[in-house]
Amino acid sequence: MNDNQEQRILAVHVRGLDGTCVGCQLWWSRLTPYPCWQVEWATSRRARAITARFLGGIR
Ligand SMILES: [Zn+2]
Repeated sequence: MNDNQEQRILAVHVRGLDGTCVGCQLWWSRLTPYPCWQVEWATSRRARAITARFLGGIR
């Protein structure tokens, strides 16, 4: 798991016109309300990485 994977997920899993996730529909033909768990996962991963980088910069 790295930043690229998270970025790819966030690039594909976007909110559709009907409020469902476009990526989930494309990948699994599944209608999932946005944000889906993949977006939640990628967002929290990225937030943690940014926080770590931020804290690392202070030291
Ligand atoms: Zn999705």
